[in-house]
Amino acid sequence: MNLVDEMNWLAPQWHRLGSYIQSGRVPQALLVVGREGVGKAQLAESFSKRLLCRTIGEYACGECASCRLFAAKTHPDFLRIEPEETGKAIPVDAIRGLIASLALKPQYSGRRVVFISPAHQMNVSSANSLLKTLEEPDEHTTLLLLTDSPQSLPATILSRCQRMDIPVPERSLALAWLAKHGQGDNAEVLLSLARGTPIKALGLANDGIIEKREEFFSAWRDLAERGGEPATVAEKWSKFPCETLADWMISWTMDMIRLRAVTRNRAIDNPDLAERLQSPAQKINMQDLFRFLDRLNAARKMLSSQVNRQLLLEEMLILWLRGHGKDLTALSQ
Ligand SMILES: [Zn+2]
Repeated sequence: MNLVDEMNWLAPQWHRLGSYIQSGRVPQALLVVGREGVGKAQLAESFSKRLLCRTIGEYACGECASCRLFAAKTHPDFLRIEPEETGKAIPVDAIRGLIASLALKPQYSGRRVVFISPAHQMNVSSANSLLKTLEEPDEHTTLLLLTDSPQSLPATILSRCQRMDIPVPERSLALAWLAKHGQGDNAEVLLSLARGTPIKALGLANDGIIEKREEFFSAWRDLAERGGEPATVAEKWSKFPCETLADWMISWTMDMIRLRAVTRNRAIDNPDLAERLQSPAQKINMQDLFRFLDRLNAARKMLSSQVNRQLLLEEMLILWLRGHGKDLTALSQ
Protein backbone atom coordinates (compact mmCIF):
# COMPACT_ATOMS: atom_id res chain seq x y z
CA MET A 1 0.00 0.00 0.00
CA ASN A 2 1.36 3.42 -0.82
CA LEU A 3 1.86 6.08 1.81
CA VAL A 4 -1.19 8.23 1.08
CA ASP A 5 -3.53 5.21 0.87
CA GLU A 6 -2.17 4.02 4.20
CA MET A 7 -2.03 7.41 5.96
CA ASN A 8 -4.36 9.72 4.10
CA TRP A 9 -3.74 12.74 6.32
CA LEU A 10 -0.21 12.95 4.89
CA ALA A 11 -1.54 13.64 1.38
CA PRO A 12 -0.89 17.45 1.32
CA GLN A 13 2.74 17.00 2.44
CA TRP A 14 3.30 14.12 0.05
CA HIS A 15 2.01 16.15 -2.89
CA ARG A 16 4.20 19.07 -1.95
CA LEU A 17 7.25 16.81 -1.84
CA GLY A 18 6.24 15.47 -5.25
CA SER A 19 6.13 18.99 -6.65
CA TYR A 20 9.68 19.57 -5.41
CA ILE A 21 10.85 16.59 -7.44
CA GLN A 22 8.86 17.55 -10.53
CA SER A 23 10.18 21.08 -10.55
CA GLY A 24 13.73 19.92 -9.85
CA ARG A 25 13.76 21.93 -6.63
CA VAL A 26 14.29 19.44 -3.89
CA PRO A 27 15.49 21.44 -0.87
CA GLN A 28 18.99 20.66 0.28
CA ALA A 29 17.75 20.51 3.85
CA LEU A 30 14.18 19.88 4.87
CA LEU A 31 12.99 20.13 8.45
CA VAL A 32 9.96 17.90 9.00
CA VAL A 33 8.07 19.09 12.06
CA GLY A 34 5.20 17.35 13.82
CA ARG A 35 4.14 15.67 17.03
CA GLU A 36 5.33 12.19 17.90
CA GLY A 37 3.28 9.63 15.99
CA VAL A 38 1.94 11.96 13.31
CA GLY A 39 3.89 10.18 10.55
CA LYS A 40 7.11 12.21 10.14
CA ALA A 41 9.29 9.13 9.76
CA GLN A 42 6.86 7.41 7.38
CA LEU A 43 6.69 10.53 5.20
CA ALA A 44 10.46 11.07 5.23
CA GLU A 45 11.23 7.42 4.51
CA SER A 46 8.78 7.22 1.61
CA PHE A 47 10.24 10.42 0.22
CA SER A 48 13.79 9.11 0.61
CA LYS A 49 12.87 5.90 -1.18
CA ARG A 50 11.29 7.88 -4.00
CA LEU A 51 14.29 10.20 -4.32
CA LEU A 52 16.62 7.22 -4.55
CA CYS A 53 14.42 5.08 -6.85
CA ARG A 54 15.74 4.66 -10.37
CA THR A 55 12.36 5.05 -12.02
CA ILE A 56 10.13 8.11 -12.09
CA GLY A 57 6.68 7.99 -10.59
CA GLU A 58 4.49 9.28 -7.82
CA TYR A 59 5.92 6.59 -5.56
CA ALA A 60 9.12 4.57 -5.52
CA CYS A 61 8.72 1.56 -7.81
CA GLY A 62 9.60 -0.96 -5.12
CA GLU A 63 11.36 -3.17 -7.65
CA CYS A 64 14.56 -1.55 -8.86
CA ALA A 65 17.92 -2.30 -7.27
CA SER A 66 17.74 0.90 -5.27
CA CYS A 67 14.28 0.14 -3.89
CA ARG A 68 15.34 -3.38 -2.95
CA LEU A 69 18.39 -2.10 -1.08
CA PHE A 70 16.19 0.44 0.65
CA ALA A 71 13.72 -2.23 1.71
CA ALA A 72 16.57 -4.38 3.01
CA LYS A 73 17.84 -1.35 4.98
CA THR A 74 21.22 -1.65 3.30
CA HIS A 75 21.07 1.26 0.85
CA PRO A 76 24.53 2.84 0.86
CA ASP A 77 23.13 6.24 -0.15
CA PHE A 78 20.59 6.40 2.65
CA LEU A 79 22.32 7.54 5.81
CA ARG A 80 20.33 7.33 8.99
CA ILE A 81 21.52 9.24 12.05
CA GLU A 82 19.72 8.50 15.30
CA PRO A 83 20.70 8.45 18.99
CA GLU A 84 22.11 5.10 20.08
CA GLU A 85 19.46 4.95 22.76
CA THR A 86 16.07 6.61 22.88
CA GLY A 87 16.31 9.91 24.68
CA LYS A 88 20.09 10.15 24.38
CA ALA A 89 21.93 12.83 22.41
CA ILE A 90 23.17 12.33 18.86
CA PRO A 91 26.93 12.43 19.48
CA VAL A 92 29.31 14.52 17.43
CA ASP A 93 31.09 11.37 16.23
CA ALA A 94 27.96 10.35 14.35
CA ILE A 95 27.90 13.68 12.51
CA ARG A 96 31.65 13.52 11.83
CA GLY A 97 31.19 10.03 10.39
CA LEU A 98 28.39 11.37 8.23
CA ILE A 99 30.55 14.23 6.91
CA ALA A 100 33.27 11.73 5.98
CA SER A 101 30.71 9.67 4.02
CA LEU A 102 29.46 12.75 2.23
CA ALA A 103 32.92 13.32 0.78
CA LEU A 104 32.39 10.21 -1.37
CA LYS A 105 30.12 10.14 -4.41
CA PRO A 106 26.71 8.46 -4.09
CA GLN A 107 26.86 4.87 -5.30
CA TYR A 108 23.48 4.17 -6.86
CA SER A 109 21.13 6.81 -8.08
CA GLY A 110 23.40 9.83 -8.15
CA ARG A 111 21.54 11.03 -5.08
CA ARG A 112 21.95 10.60 -1.41
CA VAL A 113 19.60 11.15 1.50
CA VAL A 114 20.58 11.84 5.08
CA PHE A 115 17.88 11.17 7.66
CA ILE A 116 18.45 12.73 11.10
CA SER A 117 15.92 11.98 13.82
CA PRO A 118 15.14 13.42 16.33
CA ALA A 119 17.15 16.37 14.99
CA HIS A 120 16.79 18.37 18.21
CA GLN A 121 18.71 15.66 20.04
CA MET A 122 21.94 16.68 18.35
CA ASN A 123 24.16 18.12 21.06
CA VAL A 124 25.82 21.51 20.53
CA SER A 125 28.96 20.07 18.90
CA SER A 126 26.88 17.81 16.65
CA ALA A 127 24.75 20.74 15.51
CA ASN A 128 27.86 22.85 14.87
CA SER A 129 29.42 20.09 12.81
CA LEU A 130 26.27 19.65 10.79
CA LEU A 131 26.10 23.36 10.18
CA LYS A 132 29.28 23.20 8.11
CA THR A 133 27.55 20.71 5.82
CA LEU A 134 24.52 22.94 5.53
CA GLU A 135 26.71 25.90 4.64
CA GLU A 136 28.35 24.06 1.77
CA PRO A 137 25.47 22.64 -0.26
CA ASP A 138 26.12 19.46 -2.18
CA GLU A 139 23.79 18.98 -5.12
CA HIS A 140 23.67 15.21 -4.65
CA THR A 141 22.57 15.27 -1.06
CA THR A 142 19.23 15.93 0.62
CA LEU A 143 19.12 16.23 4.37
CA LEU A 144 15.88 15.38 6.14
CA LEU A 145 15.76 16.56 9.74
CA LEU A 146 12.84 15.31 11.81
CA THR A 147 11.72 16.90 15.04
CA ASP A 148 8.78 17.43 17.35
CA SER A 149 10.61 20.24 19.08
CA PRO A 150 11.92 22.73 16.49
CA GLN A 151 12.33 25.37 19.21
CA SER A 152 15.15 23.22 20.63
CA LEU A 153 17.19 23.49 17.44
CA PRO A 154 19.76 26.28 17.05
CA ALA A 155 18.55 29.21 14.96
CA THR A 156 21.54 28.72 12.67
CA ILE A 157 20.25 25.27 11.71
CA LEU A 158 16.62 26.38 11.42
CA SER A 159 17.51 29.22 9.08
CA ARG A 160 19.18 26.83 6.66
CA CYS A 161 16.33 24.37 6.43
CA GLN A 162 13.09 24.53 4.55
CA ARG A 163 10.35 23.65 7.00
CA MET A 164 7.45 21.29 6.46
CA ASP A 165 4.86 20.98 9.23
CA ILE A 166 2.64 17.95 9.63
CA PRO A 167 -0.41 18.97 11.65
CA VAL A 168 -2.32 16.54 13.84
CA PRO A 169 -4.91 14.91 11.54
CA GLU A 170 -8.58 15.67 11.81
CA ARG A 171 -10.10 13.59 14.56
CA SER A 172 -12.46 11.74 12.24
CA LEU A 173 -9.56 10.64 10.00
CA ALA A 174 -7.54 9.52 13.00
CA LEU A 175 -10.46 7.59 14.50
CA ALA A 176 -11.17 5.87 11.19
CA TRP A 177 -7.51 4.91 10.89
CA LEU A 178 -7.45 3.43 14.39
CA ALA A 179 -10.65 1.50 13.69
CA LYS A 180 -9.04 0.09 10.55
CA HIS A 181 -6.19 -1.09 12.75
CA GLY A 182 -8.50 -2.92 15.14
CA GLN A 183 -8.75 -0.20 17.81
CA GLY A 184 -12.29 0.98 17.19
CA ASP A 185 -13.44 0.42 20.79
CA ASN A 186 -10.71 2.39 22.47
CA ALA A 187 -9.97 4.82 19.66
CA GLU A 188 -11.23 7.93 21.49
CA VAL A 189 -9.22 7.28 24.62
CA LEU A 190 -6.12 6.18 22.74
CA LEU A 191 -6.22 9.30 20.63
CA SER A 192 -6.50 11.51 23.70
CA LEU A 193 -3.59 9.72 25.32
CA ALA A 194 -1.55 10.21 22.15
CA ARG A 195 -2.46 13.91 21.89
CA GLY A 196 -4.25 13.26 18.64
CA THR A 197 -1.60 11.40 16.71
CA PRO A 198 -2.83 8.08 15.33
CA ILE A 199 0.46 6.21 14.96
CA LYS A 200 1.40 6.98 18.54
CA ALA A 201 -2.10 5.92 19.60
CA LEU A 202 -1.69 2.55 17.92
CA GLY A 203 1.74 2.11 19.50
CA LEU A 204 0.23 2.81 22.91
CA ALA A 205 -2.51 0.26 22.27
CA ASN A 206 0.09 -2.36 21.38
CA ASP A 207 1.92 -1.59 24.62
CA GLY A 208 -1.22 -2.38 26.63
CA ILE A 209 -1.56 1.22 27.70
CA ILE A 210 -5.31 1.07 28.33
CA GLU A 211 -4.84 -1.63 30.97
CA LYS A 212 -1.84 0.13 32.54
CA ARG A 213 -3.71 3.41 32.73
CA GLU A 214 -6.69 1.73 34.36
CA GLU A 215 -4.40 0.12 36.92
CA PHE A 216 -2.65 3.39 37.75
CA PHE A 217 -5.89 5.35 37.82
CA SER A 218 -7.36 2.88 40.33
CA ALA A 219 -4.29 3.15 42.54
CA TRP A 220 -4.43 6.94 42.28
CA ARG A 221 -8.10 7.07 43.16
CA ASP A 222 -7.74 4.53 45.97
CA LEU A 223 -5.15 6.79 47.54
CA ALA A 224 -7.68 9.58 47.58
CA GLU A 225 -10.65 7.49 48.69
CA ARG A 226 -9.11 5.15 51.18
CA GLY A 227 -5.70 6.61 51.87
CA GLY A 228 -2.57 4.52 51.65
CA GLU A 229 1.16 4.74 51.32
CA PRO A 230 2.29 6.98 48.45
CA ALA A 231 5.76 5.47 48.81
CA THR A 232 4.44 1.98 48.06
CA VAL A 233 2.55 3.17 45.00
CA ALA A 234 5.57 5.16 43.80
CA GLU A 235 7.84 2.17 44.22
CA LYS A 236 5.51 -0.08 42.28
CA TRP A 237 5.26 2.41 39.41
CA SER A 238 8.83 3.66 39.36
CA LYS A 239 9.78 1.34 36.50
CA PHE A 240 6.97 2.66 34.33
CA PRO A 241 7.86 5.82 32.33
CA CYS A 242 7.44 8.60 34.86
CA GLU A 243 6.68 11.14 32.10
CA THR A 244 3.60 9.14 31.14
CA LEU A 245 2.39 8.94 34.75
CA ALA A 246 2.88 12.68 35.20
CA ASP A 247 1.06 13.38 31.92
CA TRP A 248 -1.82 11.21 33.09
CA MET A 249 -2.09 12.96 36.43
CA ILE A 250 -1.95 16.35 34.69
CA SER A 251 -4.67 15.32 32.28
CA TRP A 252 -6.91 13.90 35.07
CA THR A 253 -6.44 17.05 37.12
CA MET A 254 -7.29 19.25 34.14
CA ASP A 255 -10.40 17.16 33.58
CA MET A 256 -11.42 17.59 37.24
CA ILE A 257 -11.08 21.34 36.78
CA ARG A 258 -13.18 21.14 33.61
CA LEU A 259 -15.79 19.02 35.38
CA ARG A 260 -16.10 21.64 38.12
CA ALA A 261 -16.15 24.57 35.75
CA VAL A 262 -19.40 26.42 35.30
CA THR A 263 -19.64 25.65 31.62
CA ARG A 264 -21.13 22.22 31.35
CA ASN A 265 -20.60 19.73 28.55
CA ARG A 266 -17.09 20.93 28.01
CA ALA A 267 -15.00 18.37 26.21
CA ILE A 268 -12.70 16.50 28.55
CA ASP A 269 -9.59 14.49 27.72
CA ASN A 270 -10.66 11.32 29.52
CA PRO A 271 -14.35 10.79 28.73
CA ASP A 272 -14.17 7.17 29.89
CA LEU A 273 -13.09 8.31 33.39
CA ALA A 274 -15.56 11.20 33.68
CA GLU A 275 -17.83 9.47 36.17
CA ARG A 276 -15.02 8.35 38.40
CA LEU A 277 -13.36 11.78 38.28
CA GLN A 278 -16.54 13.47 39.50
CA SER A 279 -16.26 12.57 43.17
CA PRO A 280 -12.62 13.61 43.70
CA ALA A 281 -13.35 16.71 41.64
CA GLN A 282 -16.09 17.72 44.06
CA LYS A 283 -13.97 17.09 47.14
CA ILE A 284 -11.12 19.44 46.37
CA ASN A 285 -11.74 23.14 45.98
CA MET A 286 -10.94 24.78 42.69
CA GLN A 287 -8.02 26.81 43.99
CA ASP A 288 -6.34 23.68 45.34
CA LEU A 289 -6.93 21.88 42.06
CA PHE A 290 -5.14 24.66 40.24
CA ARG A 291 -2.31 24.55 42.79
CA PHE A 292 -2.03 20.82 42.39
CA LEU A 293 -1.91 21.26 38.62
CA ASP A 294 0.90 23.83 38.94
CA ARG A 295 2.89 21.48 41.12
CA LEU A 296 2.37 18.61 38.69
CA ASN A 297 3.49 20.74 35.76
CA ALA A 298 6.58 21.84 37.68
CA ALA A 299 7.38 18.21 38.53
CA ARG A 300 6.82 17.18 34.90
CA LYS A 301 9.43 19.71 33.79
CA MET A 302 11.91 18.40 36.33
CA LEU A 303 11.74 14.96 34.76
CA SER A 304 13.97 16.10 31.91
CA SER A 305 16.79 16.73 34.39
CA GLN A 306 18.67 14.32 36.62
CA VAL A 307 16.20 13.73 39.43
CA ASN A 308 15.23 10.79 41.56
CA ARG A 309 12.13 9.83 39.62
CA GLN A 310 10.66 7.53 42.21
CA LEU A 311 10.98 10.27 44.84
CA LEU A 312 9.42 12.84 42.55
CA LEU A 313 6.52 10.50 41.80
CA GLU A 314 6.09 9.91 45.52
CA GLU A 315 5.96 13.67 46.10
CA MET A 316 3.24 14.05 43.47
CA LEU A 317 1.22 11.30 45.15
CA ILE A 318 1.69 12.85 48.60
CA LEU A 319 0.34 16.15 47.29
CA TRP A 320 -2.61 14.35 45.77
CA LEU A 321 -3.32 12.54 49.03
CA ARG A 322 -3.05 15.77 51.03
CA GLY A 323 -5.43 17.47 48.67
CA HIS A 324 -8.09 15.14 50.06
CA GLY A 325 -7.16 15.41 53.73
CA LYS A 326 -7.11 18.03 56.38
CA ASP A 327 -3.77 19.31 55.34
CA LEU A 328 -4.79 21.42 52.37
CA THR A 329 -2.32 24.15 53.29
CA ALA A 330 0.47 21.79 52.28
CA LEU A 331 -0.46 22.40 48.67
CA SER A 332 0.47 26.04 48.84
CA GLN A 333 3.91 25.46 50.33
ZN1 LIG B 1 12.58 1.82 -7.48
